[in-house]
Amino acid sequence: MAFEGLSERLQSVMSKLRGKGKVTEADVKEAMREVRLALLEADVNFKVVKTFIDRVKERAVGQEVLKSLTPGQQVIKVVHEELTVLMGGEQVKLNTAPKSPTIIMMSGLQGAGKTTHTGKLAKLLQKQNRRSLLVAADVYRPAAIKQLQVLGEQIGAPVFTLGDKESPVKIATEGVAKARAEGFDYVFIDTAGRLHIDEEMMDELRQIKAQTEPHEILLVVDSMTGQDAVNVADHFNKELGLTGVVLTKLDGDTRGGAALSVKSVTDCPIKFVGLGEKMDAIEPFHPDRMASRILG
Ligand code: GDP
Repeated sequence: MAFEGLSERLQSVMSKLRGKGKVTEADVKEAMREVRLALLEADVNFKVVKTFIDRVKERAVGQEVLKSLTPGQQVIKVVHEELTVLMGGEQVKLNTAPKSPTIIMMSGLQGAGKTTHTGKLAKLLQKQNRRSLLVAADVYRPAAIKQLQVLGEQIGAPVFTLGDKESPVKIATEGVAKARAEGFDYVFIDTAGRLHIDEEMMDELRQIKAQTEPHEILLVVDSMTGQDAVNVADHFNKELGLTGVVLTKLDGDTRGGAALSVKSVTDCPIKFVGLGEKMDAIEPFHPDRMASRILG
């Protein structure tokens, strides 16, 4: 399970509260001090931590909570609700085009899991009888086109490529035209990533966006990179206007700082999480379920 570290810490704070028949304001303050430390250690953005703790305190020291029959449980409930809010509240679904195909642009830094998650999403949609065309617009990384072709073959989704000699903008535009002409439900544009954010990459992404007018611009980020992932999301969002985030490698993330900070910092919802290398290791992101997982 993801976030073992954070989970263990929070569960131990919560179990202390749960056991108490009477909970005082001082108990709540002490618990929140520990929660604050646990969140900071989990690499949650410090401003996000502050807002979170203030909100929980304000609600939890209210008379109706502390005077209730089960004050410990009530405080835990408040923490659960506020964690859910922090991660976006409601689950946010993929946008769909009023008229097919829905155009989805996949962006992200190299190694984040962009190509893998293009395949995973296409497979997920296939289970709902939706056909996807995968467009190989990463012409810089030599193995990228081949990787997408292998994934496409594995899940039974066709891949559109013009090789690595044409411009990514042209490939994306022609790919979308093909998806439209052939009645695909979804078209995924797998764009090029770099090791770091650079102007050239952003320029290319802006051009692809302008030419293809995607309904969904997803940023794929590696959850294990914590606040770096949040900063990348913030940057991409300001430059491109993201519609959603795919948070990958949650299976290896013991901390959870990115999952807890992305929505608050960028106001961009996490739509999916990646939980492994296999093609079905993907789940829609449910903030309330994630809060339950964390609090145990
Ligand atoms: P890209 O450069 O962003 O297209 O990244 P890739 O899709 O090639 O993925 C980079 C590496 O991360 C590959 O070895 C993937 O198998 C691995 N990977 C991708 N997503 C996940 C995930 O959710 N969990 C784990 N454990 N590995 C992943």
